[in-house]
Amino acid sequence: MMQVPLTLPSFLFRAETLFPKKEIISRTKHGMFRYTYREYAKRTRQLSSILRKLGVKRGDHVGTLAWNDHRHLEAYFAIPCMGAVLHTINLRLSREHIRYIINHAGDKILIIDEDLIPIIESMQSELPTVDAYIILSDLDTIPATTLHPVYSYEALLKEGDPDFLYPDDLDENAPLGMCYTSATTGNPKGVIYSHRGIYLHSMCLGLVDSCGISETDSILPVVPMFHVNAWGMPFASVWFGARQVLPGPAPTPTILVELIAREHVTVAAGVPTVWLGVAQVLEQTNADISSLRAILCGGSAAPRALIETFEQKFGIPFIHAYGMTETTPVALVSRLKSYHQTLTDSQKLDIRSKQGLLVPGIEMKILGKSGAVKWDGQEMGELCFRGNWIADAYYQDDRSQDAFVDGWLHTGDIGTIDEEGYVKIMDRTKDLVKSGGEWISTVELENTLMAHPAVFEAAVIGIPHPKWQERPIACVVLKEGFKNKVEKLELLNVLQGKFAKWWIPDDVLFLEEIPKTSVGKFLKRALRDQLRQYYDN
Ligand code: ADP
Repeated sequence: MMQVPLTLPSFLFRAETLFPKKEIISRTKHGMFRYTYREYAKRTRQLSSILRKLGVKRGDHVGTLAWNDHRHLEAYFAIPCMGAVLHTINLRLSREHIRYIINHAGDKILIIDEDLIPIIESMQSELPTVDAYIILSDLDTIPATTLHPVYSYEALLKEGDPDFLYPDDLDENAPLGMCYTSATTGNPKGVIYSHRGIYLHSMCLGLVDSCGISETDSILPVVPMFHVNAWGMPFASVWFGARQVLPGPAPTPTILVELIAREHVTVAAGVPTVWLGVAQVLEQTNADISSLRAILCGGSAAPRALIETFEQKFGIPFIHAYGMTETTPVALVSRLKSYHQTLTDSQKLDIRSKQGLLVPGIEMKILGKSGAVKWDGQEMGELCFRGNWIADAYYQDDRSQDAFVDGWLHTGDIGTIDEEGYVKIMDRTKDLVKSGGEWISTVELENTLMAHPAVFEAAVIGIPHPKWQERPIACVVLKEGFKNKVEKLELLNVLQGKFAKWWIPDDVLFLEEIPKTSVGKFLKRALRDQLRQYYDN
């Protein structure tokens, strides 16, 4: 058979030739912006030509510090299609980590949203590799800034060549992009995505048994474009010619609900905390979000009660998926098998709230204390993956040897697999509570607590214990209207009978909020530090 390189320019070419009339809609500071794939492709080529004029060559790294909008989407293709590397920077990281990753990646140019200028100004003198700054302003003019040399994106684009030609000899194994993931300790770790990896992963996103993204969809990526490429959806959406609805700077649950209703979004994707917020808005309004054919939810465990609320109360199919920065990310998707249709709703929910089945195209093994675990849904082990969209190292980082062993990625996630092959994530290695030599899955306890009508969020963590090594403590945020009205005992009773006695948390603490990571996941490290002080006093 022929071997044709699997590279990104073919995605853009397909969108501009087959879907020139399809729309991209973007929420900006100055209102909604709409244009077509025809105009999108033209501006993308203009941007590439400008980057070339500014000295960007093949293999150079170009950083973006930006929200989910049309200009970021232009950079998503303009940079890799010319052979350079798209480095999406997580704008919610600490300044210290942002400075570290720009320097570690060696970014040559930074493309920055207007409201994020102060972050970069504060570290400008410490960014020796950066030759120029481009500001993503809605206007030709940019705000006064100490950044230098600095350019207006829109002013530059006017000078750009709309017919800029992309090289036809890109190597499919060449880097297309990179993204840093948070480390338990120390600096973030960089993952490089190759053209080939993104190509195959995008194909997987289109499979009906995975995410089924298609030309008929209107896709709303709530997950940030600086977080694992918004789970790869911008790439797949351009390739398939899907309509895209980009939510812009810091979208709130109310804004998301309005966007879904007004733009008839069919697929929306985000972490569970986003959907917890959206569910609250939906309970208070009667917004019509029936255009949704699927909510894709991953990044941390989707509580069973959340899936149930969306499906049974709001009538929206809710699909639970699992992945990580190192897996591009989609690795597991929870879908019922055809013969599951005869099960009861509750049995179906039990299956659907697991993280799901391995998607076609990659391999998985779960390693327990003595080799691969039994497919019994009981024995716990560490999930390991290999395949064409699984990273094989961290970028220039000697911590690679801990995670990449014998050709497999060791995820640090602990899970079980049942007779049918459905994987259930029990915890991250670092979050498991180790009590009396046994493991307690905090995720299961949390999900059960979050099913209580008064509970908004619940996080269970381990606290050092003189006899048992660690004991679980539940931290609970109550819903508005339930504050001071629920007793600890009532919540612990929800767990009695469902779990072994020694799994039941020793205490319940009511908090105003649970600290979150930069992408909205529970930050258990911070919670542990906070609580250690509480118990020490
Ligand atoms: P970070 O490590 O910075 O959170 P990632 O987005 O790469 O960055 O996080 C991946 C991790 O998120 C996985 O290793 C896993 O622990 C967790 N995760 C992702 N999806 C799920 C899910 N559906 N259920 C439980 N945990 C999940």
